[in-house]
Amino acid sequence: MPCADEGAAARSFDLAIDAGFVLPVRPAHTVLTGHTVLVRDGLIAAIAPTDDTLDLEVRERVRLPGHLVMPGLVNLHTHAAMALMRGLSDDLPLMRWLQEHIWPAESKFVSDAFVEAGTRLACAEMLRAGTTCFNDMYFFPESAARAVLQAGMRASLGMIAIEFPTAYATDAQDYLARGIATRDALRGEPLLSFCFAPHAPYTVSDDTFRRIRTYAQQLDTPIHVHLHETLQEIADSEAAFGMRPIERLDRLGLIGAETIAVHAVHLDDRDIETLARRGAHVAHCPSSNLKLASGFAPVARLLAAGVNVGLGTDGAASNNRLDLFTELRLASLLAKAVAGSAEALPAFDAIEMATLGGARALGLDSRIGSLEPGKAADIIALDFTALELQPCYEPMSHVAYVAGREQVTDAWVAGRHLLQDRHLATLDAEALAADASAWKALIAARSSGG
Ligand SMILES: [Zn+2]
Repeated sequence: MPCADEGAAARSFDLAIDAGFVLPVRPAHTVLTGHTVLVRDGLIAAIAPTDDTLDLEVRERVRLPGHLVMPGLVNLHTHAAMALMRGLSDDLPLMRWLQEHIWPAESKFVSDAFVEAGTRLACAEMLRAGTTCFNDMYFFPESAARAVLQAGMRASLGMIAIEFPTAYATDAQDYLARGIATRDALRGEPLLSFCFAPHAPYTVSDDTFRRIRTYAQQLDTPIHVHLHETLQEIADSEAAFGMRPIERLDRLGLIGAETIAVHAVHLDDRDIETLARRGAHVAHCPSSNLKLASGFAPVARLLAAGVNVGLGTDGAASNNRLDLFTELRLASLLAKAVAGSAEALPAFDAIEMATLGGARALGLDSRIGSLEPGKAADIIALDFTALELQPCYEPMSHVAYVAGREQVTDAWVAGRHLLQDRHLATLDAEALAADASAWKALIAARSSGG
């Protein structure tokens, strides 16, 4: 592993993390033993054998000899504020779940305060699960931004568009205007980025999609859209437009290198060819697809075609965990079953999906997704001394198939220590739990009372 620094001026550092194992993701398929990650000004300055770093001037040294250190996970698709609807309605297919439960509840409760409280709760859960960056799609992104900034996490906030009115906006143009205004107001925040988030082909018109394409080109932002989630969505599109949603969006100019197709469960060869040819990305959300019985995404076929795939949890209302370690393991297992090959999506490839794959889709891969000099110090540590992880022949295998979020002890974003031995440094866990209970009491009373 190269040591990036040269010269005497480069011998002082803000932080040194001594780790039993370092899984940097780049170079691929690599695990370093007894190495130290050196951080300066929020960036990774070097990764070097710990013995070679002991004479360096280091402001803080964190010794984790029994831990594995790796890049923070990137949750490529969630609706963070829906953490407050976790378990509100289970065991229903997508459209009944949305139309009979989620949309009515949202019409009653979604507000600036709901989104800030829900996003704060989600940030706490994600940090404690090793996620340091997430891509969000929800109403009131300015309220989500307050929670993210308080948490100190990194996020890509969706500028949502949907055709029906909510407490947030009246029509698609109003949604877009509000989203763009939020982006403009927060452009200077280094941990925040923005993407357009048209909800889905069945809730967004051609005109709105065209407008989003123009804005996305002007502002150079990704577009994040639920796409080919269910067979019903495809059948409805064929009935209404005479074509599948991917073809419709492609004709509208919406499928490109800036596009993140969320779910992409039901794909024929032509759909996959279109996504690959356009350089589009997929946000694979295996738990949500299983829970809503949407189906099984053809991940091995997408990868074979050259499509970049990242992992998402979807919202806590349809998962019901914001836990990318669960998604990572499920993605690998499901890919094998779907492909009929135990060789499909091996451990390292699943880890790459949960880190660099997500970063690439968000256009952030020059800054996050791997532990490399010059990238942001978005780092997590897993306790590899846990009995459940013994013995350990191959650390990458354990990250993919054994470790869970309960092994995550520490997390840093841009070098800031946000999770310290499982304690949240920027958020008050007790207050979050009390706040969640208060919202639950309100929502449960009003939902049952009609
Ligand atoms: Zn979703």
